[in-house]
Amino acid sequence: VPFVALGEFELIDRYFRDLGARRADVATGIGDDAAVLETPAGTRLVAAVDSIVEGVHFLAGSPARSIGHRALAVNLSDIAAMGARPAWALLALTLPRADEAWLEAFAQGFGELARTHGVALVGGDTTRGPLSVSVQVLGFVPDGAALLRSGGRPGDVLCVTGTPGDAAAGLELEKQRATTPDATCLRERFLFPQPRCELGELLRAHASACIDVSDGLAADAGKLASASGCGAKIDLAELPLSEALVRAFGHERARAFSLEGGEDYELLFTVSPARFDAFQRAVPGKRHGWRRIGELCAAPGVFTALAGAVTQFSPSGWDHFRRG
Ligand code: ADP
Ligand code: MG
Repeated sequence: VPFVALGEFELIDRYFRDLGARRADVATGIGDDAAVLETPAGTRLVAAVDSIVEGVHFLAGSPARSIGHRALAVNLSDIAAMGARPAWALLALTLPRADEAWLEAFAQGFGELARTHGVALVGGDTTRGPLSVSVQVLGFVPDGAALLRSGGRPGDVLCVTGTPGDAAAGLELEKQRATTPDATCLRERFLFPQPRCELGELLRAHASACIDVSDGLAADAGKLASASGCGAKIDLAELPLSEALVRAFGHERARAFSLEGGEDYELLFTVSPARFDAFQRAVPGKRHGWRRIGELCAAPGVFTALAGAVTQFSPSGWDHFRRG
């Protein structure tokens, strides 16, 4: 059923055809019943899908450019966490109405990020209903080289990229309608997360396990550790806190945001101690934006360490961290 003045085919043609990178391995893209894609020899296909729904994953009235960006970014982050290289995306879009300015901005946010990572939009579906965006990303990894959550061992060094906590703090400040420069900067981290695709591929040669941080550093450290059959210890003094986060919320709450925030789309990974020096030399933390924050331990669970004292992690109880 056509639901747009524009016409469904015109809409797809205008906003989604040729969106993202142009790739020679797309034999048939948008316009037929399904896409036909060439997979390189010696690789495995890596697939991820994630949906974002208005009122659940983003606030009603969020900028359309951010919605397009985030819908793709959350999937690129999953592909990065597997050590894979993204190639193609499919987009299932449910819209209450076909607002051309909205579609233009949405396609811009999606398209810019897709081009940055060499991803072609090769198909999708467009329907009417409450705003929700579902994106599937397909990528490749050399046979047997995928980075799993389960490869960690007690003693492995635990590292994280970026400054987790910023995105959740930005969302909180957005709800409060704060307009300070720090609020603006943190809000950008929520609206436009940058998936760590390049580092994900570099990690294949060095990391024992990897996960992307979407539910919060402590929660995702717990998932990686439990998949690896061990525990994780996070050194609170080593948490990478952004200056904006500390200025906006103070040190204690900044730490809580960092551990519990979510929506960061950074990478959390482990490297065996025997390989850590070589890793540091090949992929310096300063240049690639990662930092050592702790280690895996034999005891299951998540622990935090501060000035020599180790305690089992428990959520801080700040109001906005309670999940319903
Ligand atoms: P069908 O009825 O065969 O599913 P559609 O009308 O849904 O065909 O889609 C026509 C073409 O447009 C297909 O190639 C489909 O993959 C593509 N397409 C539809 N919606 C989108 C979208 N939101 N983004 C990208 N491609 C889309
Ligand atoms: Mg269809």
